[in-house]
Amino acid sequence: MISVIEFFRNLPKKKCSQCGEDMVHEKADCYGNICDECDHPAR
Ligand SMILES: [Zn+2]
Repeated sequence: MISVIEFFRNLPKKKCSQCGEDMVHEKADCYGNICDECDHPAR
């Protein structure tokens, strides 16, 4: 069995689907793959 830590370590870094930047803060999956900048409600 793989430990939880190993599992997350093997995950690829998420990138914003709009600007392609690495996402510093991972959000819940329901937000999709968009960074804080692109996810700004004013846009
Ligand atoms: Zn972005």
